Amino acid sequence: MAEYDTIIRNAIVMAPSGAQPLDVAISDRRIAALLPRREGIARQAIDASGKHLLPGAIDIHFHIRAPAYPDRGTVDSETRAAAAGGITTLFEMPISKPCCNTAERVEIRRAHFAEHAHINFGLYAAPGDLTEASVAAMAAAGIVGFKIFTTPAPEGRDDEFFGLSFPDEADQMRALKAAAATGLPIVVHAESAQLLARAEADLEGTDLGNIDAHLASRPAICEAVAVAKLLTMNIEARAKLHIAHVTSALTVSVLRRFAGTSDFSAETCPHYLLRTHDDVRSAGVFAKINPPVRLKADQDALWQAIADGVITHVTTDHAAFSRAEKLAGSKNMVTAPPGSPGSEILVPGMLDAAARGRITLEQVVALLSGNAADRFGLPNKGRIEVGADADLILVDLDGKTSIGPDTLLTFARDVAQLYYGAEFSGRVTRTIVGGQTVYDGAVQSHPGWGAYVRPAGRSTTETTS
Ligand SMILES: [Zn+2]
Repeated sequence: MAEYDTIIRNAIVMAPSGAQPLDVAISDRRIAALLPRREGIARQAIDASGKHLLPGAIDIHFHIRAPAYPDRGTVDSETRAAAAGGITTLFEMPISKPCCNTAERVEIRRAHFAEHAHINFGLYAAPGDLTEASVAAMAAAGIVGFKIFTTPAPEGRDDEFFGLSFPDEADQMRALKAAAATGLPIVVHAESAQLLARAEADLEGTDLGNIDAHLASRPAICEAVAVAKLLTMNIEARAKLHIAHVTSALTVSVLRRFAGTSDFSAETCPHYLLRTHDDVRSAGVFAKINPPVRLKADQDALWQAIADGVITHVTTDHAAFSRAEKLAGSKNMVTAPPGSPGSEILVPGMLDAAARGRITLEQVVALLSGNAADRFGLPNKGRIEVGADADLILVDLDGKTSIGPDTLLTFARDVAQLYYGAEFSGRVTRTIVGGQTVYDGAVQSHPGWGAYVRPAGRSTTETTS
């Protein structure tokens, strides 16, 4: 009888066919067998009595910004935090200094992440100068997709956003077509630059130090109009379009109207699902996130969109800042640094939603893992089946996750005020990446354990598609 590397015993396994009482055997970083209880032999056994085994979360929206800005956390610190949060693969956004917008910069970042990451990582790139050769070279470098903003670069940050910010619609159309030619998804931060500029101008003379000013500066119409235009363009461009962080009832209604018109998908984030502007008021500048967390009616519409399959992904949009940076910006909420940490919120927050009956555990698996693997071409990830990568988490549905500056591992634990005092029902007790335990209450891995994730069907020698 074959001896496996590891067998996880006595868990309830969230398999594609539903919750099953199975033992899971792992060898050579992969799931080798799904066994009846007590069968099989292995060098190591993990007793998971009372726990559920889920695919690890694939977080398709994460910002570390490395190798730039080590003062906002590092690949080491933020992938440790992600491991503790039950994330086994993250997709890093291209904002860095300079922006990740050429194949050379993709390679620099890949090497940097490969040296320091505790979990698996994929990289997005900005389409940069939009030339066919440059875009094809980035695709060949193994990126998981492209990212663009429809908004201009924030003041003083041109080098971080070059080839990433395309407020001009003609450029957006070119970016969609360039991505379509590679077959890779293109993720868009969608807000209308013109409507944002007007909303901001209308605030002149009001108290910009009040967090209400931030919400007023980015009304839902900005998001909805940008999404409607992109979806219209995509009927012609035929890209694999993915709308980042949907926040509003209005945008959900737009997504519904365009159903079936092109290949698009949409995500939202825990802060939009679990928090409202009332919570943002208490947390102030620490809860300044673009686009903003909105009202209860918007939150209800997002949950309904998940129930109806209009929104198919939940992501962290993890973005760390230092406490000093956030505070320094707080006199003007319109220009203050936007972002909040989500590394250790995503999985417990969604388990809590399942405990409250908002969604099922099967939906949690789809929203956090399975749908990402399908959308981004990772056939070996996102589900528990023989041959799949052994990227797994054990969760205790009866356990609790308390959130505070002392419980979080992210460098941004001092700016997570939006969640301080939260006690989620459900707890990640173990995170396994490539068959190895990277977290079991403490981080057990070493930097560099995580692997570079590239979409299926691409190789380093591929130059065109
Ligand atoms: Zn983001």
